[in-house]
Amino acid sequence: MAKDDNYTIEDINRLSGEYLSDGDISFINRAYEFAKEAHKEQYRKSGEPYIIHPIQVAGILVDLEMDAETIAGGFLHDVVEDTNVTLEDLEEEFNHEVAMLVDGVTKLGKIKYKSKQDLQVENHRKMFVAMAKDIRVILIKLADRLHNMRTLKHLPPEKQRIKANETIEIFAPLAHRLGISTIKWELEDTALRYLNPQQYYRIVHLMKQKREEREYYIQEVIDELSKQLKEVNIEAEMSGRPKHLYSIYQKMVKQNKQFNEIYDLLAIRIIVDSIKDCYAALGIIHTNWKPMPGRFKDYIAMPKQNLYQSLHTTVIGPKGDPLEVQIRTKEMHEIAEYGIAAHWAYKEGKQLKSGNKTFEEKLTLFREILDWQSDTHDAEEFIESLKVDLFSDMVYVFTPKGDVIELPSGSVPLDFAYKIHTEIGNKTVGAKINGKMEPLDYKLKNGDIVEVMTSKHSYGPSQDWLKITQTSQAKSKIKQFFKKQRKEENILKGKEVVEKEIRALNINPKDVLTPENLQRVFERFNFTNEEDMYAAVGYQGITGALIATRLTEKIREAKQKEQDLEQSLSEVKSGVRDKKAHKRDSGVRVKGVDNLLVRLAKCCNPVPGDEIVGYITKGRGVSVHRSDCPNVQTEEARQRFLQVEWAIDQNGEKQYHVDLEVSAYDRRGLLNEVLQAVNEMKTNITHVNGRSDRNKIAIIQITILIHNTSHLRKVVERIKRIKDVYSVTRTLH
Ligand code: MN
Repeated sequence: MAKDDNYTIEDINRLSGEYLSDGDISFINRAYEFAKEAHKEQYRKSGEPYIIHPIQVAGILVDLEMDAETIAGGFLHDVVEDTNVTLEDLEEEFNHEVAMLVDGVTKLGKIKYKSKQDLQVENHRKMFVAMAKDIRVILIKLADRLHNMRTLKHLPPEKQRIKANETIEIFAPLAHRLGISTIKWELEDTALRYLNPQQYYRIVHLMKQKREEREYYIQEVIDELSKQLKEVNIEAEMSGRPKHLYSIYQKMVKQNKQFNEIYDLLAIRIIVDSIKDCYAALGIIHTNWKPMPGRFKDYIAMPKQNLYQSLHTTVIGPKGDPLEVQIRTKEMHEIAEYGIAAHWAYKEGKQLKSGNKTFEEKLTLFREILDWQSDTHDAEEFIESLKVDLFSDMVYVFTPKGDVIELPSGSVPLDFAYKIHTEIGNKTVGAKINGKMEPLDYKLKNGDIVEVMTSKHSYGPSQDWLKITQTSQAKSKIKQFFKKQRKEENILKGKEVVEKEIRALNINPKDVLTPENLQRVFERFNFTNEEDMYAAVGYQGITGALIATRLTEKIREAKQKEQDLEQSLSEVKSGVRDKKAHKRDSGVRVKGVDNLLVRLAKCCNPVPGDEIVGYITKGRGVSVHRSDCPNVQTEEARQRFLQVEWAIDQNGEKQYHVDLEVSAYDRRGLLNEVLQAVNEMKTNITHVNGRSDRNKIAIIQITILIHNTSHLRKVVERIKRIKDVYSVTRTLH
């Protein structure tokens, strides 16, 4: 591959004749004539006829030994954009492939590039490749950009900067990616001249200054090496390797070094016939000069991602300065310089001249070459990434602000919306594509400018959205929305049901929805919070009635007691009035209430003078107990207490039963003495029972009739005076 910066049509014919068939050459000449006619009235900024530009682009492509369609595409790349010629015209005049290539280049020209952040730059690159569809479109575009950079001086300074920046960020990395280092380096060096002219010219100057010295030194090394290589019969082409301005500049900036600190300015390249010779040459170099540690790289065994292969080493050269050496075969060199285009030329041009293959067949061939050449991990990754980029399953679209968003192909505006933000997705009501309203299931195309319309009043996603969206991100957000929305609905529904059930129990929900009550219910049914509880009722995991019952448990119990009491009291009252006739005067009166039915409790048998309480029984009126009676000591009993008082003359005739228990040493005549004593007190006995245990302890139970407590006290004192009596107590039943 020869190189020339200023091709004539004769150059192109001569150069393409080296690898293309006569038919192909007449095909590209037709393309040239057609382009010349189409652009005949046009001139470039430099004042030259416009056709000069397409000729240079085609020339660069010939230099890469591209196929006839690509070169024709180079001649014709601007006719659709800048003249009246249509794609149909091209298809008719040439063929579908050429029309497609020109269409691709035209479309790439329309991508508006705005430098923003790294991520955006990467996405732009991807979009670029994805839009190209055919890798040859990118090669034409690179050739186009290269010639435009060569002639950039004719543009105004502002445009120079924009173009140079775009070149550094998009085009040079693309060239690198495809392994076309000749184009990459030239693009970078030229761009630097416009981006940082001061540094550019300074480096140029410094390099010039040292050139003679450097060239002399390099020659010395080459002479020495070729003598030694000849001795072992290795054929080698050696040259001082030109250093690229941009890489020197980058090292100075990134590593903050001075120009003379960048030692690999001294570099030679050795090109040999075989891989075996590469390693042999390396051995000789390392024997002659001391290698610098950590500087040896074997890119033959481990090719770079873009398939670059070579041996790299740095040695301490004859003058004690570091000397960088690259060793590779001819074929490796071709790939190093021309990358993907080298593979193209090799298969297409030199061996399959008559091949009329489709692009995909060509790519398959390309892949085969790679597969055959190396099975290293890196290379495979490269093919994978290339595949993804080229036939991608991705589509690249713009936000209205010019950010590029990457989505799987087949994506719709909703995928885009959810990729931007979940809330935007959920509130989407429509989409404008390139300024025009489109349906939400519109399939996005590379380069579309997508504007999502949202509304605060949107009802949120619909079930259909799950069908039309393409990304799992959008689908999962939509599902999440439904789940959440349903939960919210369920909470509202559940709350409503629970409150209704509470009201049905005649209770104000506010009175029972207290933290303590809720906590009891949470614990009982394993809810973590109120929302969970209501949601469960909402989706009918539990009935609202059950929750209401549990919530109102306490309040209902209290209410019930109150009601019972009221009922009992009213029963008692009404009972008295109805059954006055049966009333037997107990001698006890309920304070403040007349004629209540009152009975004396049988358990403790109160007598006038005892402290007493009234207890409202369920349905049996009020019973009167001694206030120390164990039967009325509970809290529950206390709630049913009624104040009562003795309502009789304490010295009156009315008599009351009292049970006494007398303990004594058992002896003959004891019982008689007790009965006699009671009798002496003018007290009637209604019941007597006596027994004695093994220890001769006698227990005598007697029931006597008493007027009041002082009467009782006297009787008890009298019994106590009997010999052998230990104790006299009032008993309870
Ligand atoms: Mn152009």
